[in-house]
Amino acid sequence: MSKKTKHIAIYGKGGIGKSTTTSNISAALAESGYKVIQIGCDPKSDSTNTLRGGNYLPTVLDSLRESNNVKLKDISEEGFGGVLCIEAGGPVPGVGCAGRGINAAVSVLQELDLFEKYKADYVLYDVLGDVVCGGFAVPIRDGITDRAYVVTSSDFMAIYAANNLFKAINKYAPTGGAKLGGIIGNGLSANYSKSIVDDFAKKTGTKVAGYVPRSLIVSQSELYGKTVIEANPKSEHANIYRNLAKFIAEDEDLSVPNPLSVNELRDWAREWGDKIYKFDSRIVEGPASI
Ligand code: ADP
Ligand code: MG
Repeated sequence: MSKKTKHIAIYGKGGIGKSTTTSNISAALAESGYKVIQIGCDPKSDSTNTLRGGNYLPTVLDSLRESNNVKLKDISEEGFGGVLCIEAGGPVPGVGCAGRGINAAVSVLQELDLFEKYKADYVLYDVLGDVVCGGFAVPIRDGITDRAYVVTSSDFMAIYAANNLFKAINKYAPTGGAKLGGIIGNGLSANYSKSIVDDFAKKTGTKVAGYVPRSLIVSQSELYGKTVIEANPKSEHANIYRNLAKFIAEDEDLSVPNPLSVNELRDWAREWGDKIYKFDSRIVEGPASI
């Protein structure tokens, strides 16, 4: 097992399944014997909940507000498979910049010498990302992470957010920023979903790391406060996450994506609007008349 820690960011639009996917990847890596740290970089602060029975953890930002002598034990807890869980946290709602939490958390963890001392194989950063604000670009900007993955469905807004991440990677990669490991298709349910994600990957010169279908197994596991790996280890879905984790652990072929311009993205979406009827007989060819 390599002793060089790999720092990996997982981005995606809010609610797209970043935390679910990241926690299942962490659980699958831990199950294979790797030492893993998962850092939630989303003001929602629930990234690691399903690794720890569904409970909330004191966040780094909350702890910093209470004390200027924050200890690792105050802001971390071991979850399933020994995954070390940390939540950066966010500002008081309506006040301050949400990206600040990421900066503050990473600084505190570096001051505590966590990465040197803990000697993890993987540190996964679960980052809220439409990347319109510099704060959320922190994990990919300054060499904190080696690589980023983006979780997207086939919905336009999720793809729009993925394309924004590609713009940020494209901007920062030449000066030491992270490169892209791939796209993770999540919550795919329609029969055209996979084709849309594949086509977006092709158009942007990127690749797909894995496809995670929409499944009740995920919902049920979440209701139990667990990952699928823990709650339903023998399910096909658990194997989908294991394969994704294996891909992330083994694949070293990173790329700098070619993001689409706003107009290119719009035109590409319209083309899909034109051909989507081929996938589902309930959809008519061309815009439906009202
Ligand atoms: P994010 O971290 O991107 O905000 P979450 O991981 O919290 O999103 O997921 C949002 C909701 O979607 C959760 O209730 C989660 O259980 C559900 N979900 C995510 N992925 C799937 C999937 N593949 N199948 C079914 N439900 C999913
Ligand atoms: Mg989340």
